[in-house]
Amino acid sequence: MTTTMTERVYNFSPGPAVLPEPVLRTIRDELFSLRGSGMSILEVSHREPIFLDILGEATSRLTELLGIPKDYRVLFVQGGSRLQFSMIPMNLAGPRAKCSYIVTGTWGKAAYDEARKLSVPELSWDGKSSNYSTLPQPRDLSLSADSSFVHFTSNETIQGVQFPEEPSVGSLPLVCDASSDFLSRPIPVAKYGLIYACAQKNAGPAGVTVVIIREDLLKRSGPSLPSYLSFQNHASENSLFNTAPTFGIYVVSLVAEWLLNEMGGLSGMQVTNQRKARLLYEVIDSSEGFYQGHAAPECRSLMNVTFRLPSDELQQRFLQEAEAQDLMCLKGHRSVGGIRASIYNAMPEQGVERLRDHMREFLSRWRGKALG
Ligand SMILES: *Cc1c(COP(=O)(O)O)cnc(C)c1O
Repeated sequence: MTTTMTERVYNFSPGPAVLPEPVLRTIRDELFSLRGSGMSILEVSHREPIFLDILGEATSRLTELLGIPKDYRVLFVQGGSRLQFSMIPMNLAGPRAKCSYIVTGTWGKAAYDEARKLSVPELSWDGKSSNYSTLPQPRDLSLSADSSFVHFTSNETIQGVQFPEEPSVGSLPLVCDASSDFLSRPIPVAKYGLIYACAQKNAGPAGVTVVIIREDLLKRSGPSLPSYLSFQNHASENSLFNTAPTFGIYVVSLVAEWLLNEMGGLSGMQVTNQRKARLLYEVIDSSEGFYQGHAAPECRSLMNVTFRLPSDELQQRFLQEAEAQDLMCLKGHRSVGGIRASIYNAMPEQGVERLRDHMREFLSRWRGKALG
């Protein structure tokens, strides 16, 4: 056995997902003693100055990366994006209040279904009839002027459809589930009321969720809300209402530092992400239907590339052969089937090139009738 501890595969997992290698190395180096403190990040109190520094750095790095305006607050909470599906209607709408949902895939549908338990959501648009492969045109949206907010999912992780830019909703507060494309490209934060993202897709480990909220919306959190579920509470306690997810915040801060210092910020990262995605979509488009992309071409995600092969047998074989080359976790979500290559920020270009080569090579063997 010559396997070494440092050997890594190309991990195309949708989440928790690959993290940047320099970040993993820093975590390893600092895990025993954080910045010479003699304590691990896993051991320090969330009220100690050493952690308060990390919390401050995480906030200021995200603020710098995204250009977050002064009238917004950055919150770090637990419960994943799923808890946001409840917290958002509870805080921003309340019982009997109207809100609007643009549903472009599994996650948007889940958010809408949760809102139905708490408020009165209207379905502004639903991509169900195209099997969630398309996005609405501006004229397709039905939006009530008295809606409390409009919710959309910038990138549908399971279907692989991504808004090229945010839908325009006039003066209504725009709320975005950015879980699977957060920090993959610049966002004009000022156009949003609230942006949220669980970290484990593109920004860190499982266990922490970033919420960026415009300050005026904090006033909507009613006093009768359970305390943990109130945005106002998290904001006034600077994300330290209860024990914060300390390790997760630390890793998000390291990922933000990596983006700032090594990847050219979010515009640099976006260029790299466009180049990476193009490698795979080019093979799909030149395969004469052998690889069938799920998303309509103008709605394609730069983060999750979804496609099918002509049969389940071919798909199985494609996946097995991929794994034999250390191209891992490519199986599509059970609800969509096929293949899903999640190529988040931290997936090296070389990994995407290796997958492209496998796709090309597999296709040429099939054309040469060598696959049986
Ligand atoms: C993964 C994901 C979620 C769910 O996140 P949890 O942290 O598991 O609750 C919600 N929305 C999108 C777009 C996702 O990719």
